[in-house]
Amino acid sequence: MTTRFVIIGGGPAGNTAASYAARLGAKVTMIERDVVGGAAHLWDCIPSKTMIATGGAMSFSKRIGGMGLEQSDTQVDVQALTSRIEGIKGHMRDDTTELLESQGVRLARGSARFVGSHRVQVVGAGGTEEIEFDAALVATGSRPRIPEWCTPDGDRILTTRDCYPPKTFPESMTVVGSGVTGVEFVHMFSSFGAKVTLVVSRQQVLPGKDPEVAAVLEDDFLTRGVKLLKGARATAIERVLADDGSEQVVVSCDDGRVVRSSHAVLAIGSVPNTEELDLAAAGVEVDAGGYIPIDHNCVTSQPHIYAAGDVSGKLPLSSVASMQGRKVAERLMGLHAREHRHLDYDKAASAIFTEPEIADVGLAEAEAFASGRKIRVTKVPFSATPKALINNDSRGFVKIISDPATGVVLGGSIVGRHAAELISVIALAVTANLKVTDIVESLLVHPALSEALAEASE
Ligand SMILES: Cc1cc2nc3c(=O)[nH]c(=O)nc-3n(C[C@H](O)[C@H](O)[C@H](O)COP(=O)(O)OP(=O)(O)OC[C@H]3O[C@@H](n4cnc5c(N)ncnc54)[C@H](O)[C@@H]3O)c2cc1C
Repeated sequence: MTTRFVIIGGGPAGNTAASYAARLGAKVTMIERDVVGGAAHLWDCIPSKTMIATGGAMSFSKRIGGMGLEQSDTQVDVQALTSRIEGIKGHMRDDTTELLESQGVRLARGSARFVGSHRVQVVGAGGTEEIEFDAALVATGSRPRIPEWCTPDGDRILTTRDCYPPKTFPESMTVVGSGVTGVEFVHMFSSFGAKVTLVVSRQQVLPGKDPEVAAVLEDDFLTRGVKLLKGARATAIERVLADDGSEQVVVSCDDGRVVRSSHAVLAIGSVPNTEELDLAAAGVEVDAGGYIPIDHNCVTSQPHIYAAGDVSGKLPLSSVASMQGRKVAERLMGLHAREHRHLDYDKAASAIFTEPEIADVGLAEAEAFASGRKIRVTKVPFSATPKALINNDSRGFVKIISDPATGVVLGGSIVGRHAAELISVIALAVTANLKVTDIVESLLVHPALSEALAEASE
């Protein structure tokens, strides 16, 4: 009998699961209330990285002086930038929709909620329908967290979703939150020439990251004139009219410090989209934060219902969501009866799209020291490679962590140009249990930044 598989949410987790399950023979219905591609395409990964790419080109154009070119004044064309972002989003949405339809996935437009252990109700513009399923996947993602002390207005007090680009382009911006999203927004707006202040609740940006990595980023921010307000927690954000008649946003902090800017953006994490799903009707448990606990197969408290992506409370990354979706489809369709690789969150590569870029994977140095594990750490600065000199950018380094007894690569960090691409080599080594000698003995390209990877593996 054909498996009737219902997926709620068309983001990376949902659409990857839909595509794989359909190819493996399931009868798939994917329910989406907004846009196929999910928040990842509409609000998060795609538009933020498109803005960052344009901002990066702008800041690069200011550094071409050392490359035998004459400096020219580059200006942002907000209308062209908006069209570029909308164009890329539209392309991604259409591509994903076409692919799913060509694979036989039925797309149901509307908001879904459970009305029984094997039944969902979909309410959409076309009316209401009920769909019965043998298995379901909850992949409804998350949305920006909005604290009770602030009311975003989409104009000057912004969430990350209001920034692609904002209605008025910021002269100055206060970014509240210094995690991955916060530092990417600092980079984005300062690249476009805004005066940026970052409210950092601890003493280091990117709390939890390798301090050496965070220090390189802080140096870059300070060089660009970004103000770091360390050890401060925002407690209020309000709009005021300044004496000169200009609109301002005032961010007040718990230690009495106050920042004035033309705009402020909140980047203080996200909350899962689970409250409207009536998960209790299907007997699916949620935790105190609203996330859906899952086992290593993404199975919830109900054996026929899976959860994947941000709602699962694991790593909130598009890449992880997609891989969870793929694993769900494989398990559902019986592929896990054969030998297969389990999803290992500790081996997920991640990147921060700042300048310089930051990427890491696997075991971190600080983590190894904290657990008392013996490791070998090798570090090579990009300045040691000819390509960095050719690029006129020798910032950053490659760090590789390996097992001193076996030489197996356990993890690594890269700070520098193209770090998000270069980390793939270390990610592959970590996933496939390769040794440092495997990297050293690979015949890599010259001149290339990847030569630093080989040297750090020596
Ligand atoms: C600013 C920002 C930048 C980011 N950049 C990156 C990046 O560069 N790389 C990276 O890997 N990750 C990035 N992320 C994280 C990434 O966006 C998320 O991890 C990813 O979107 C999670 O995918 P998902 O499938 O769980 O959900 P989503 O992409 O959130 O999709 C969920 C979908 O479910 C739909 N939905 C919700 N409820 C219902 C319902 N009741 N009925 C029907 N449909 C419903 C929603 O409309 C949505 O389309 C970024 C996040 C932010 C905030």
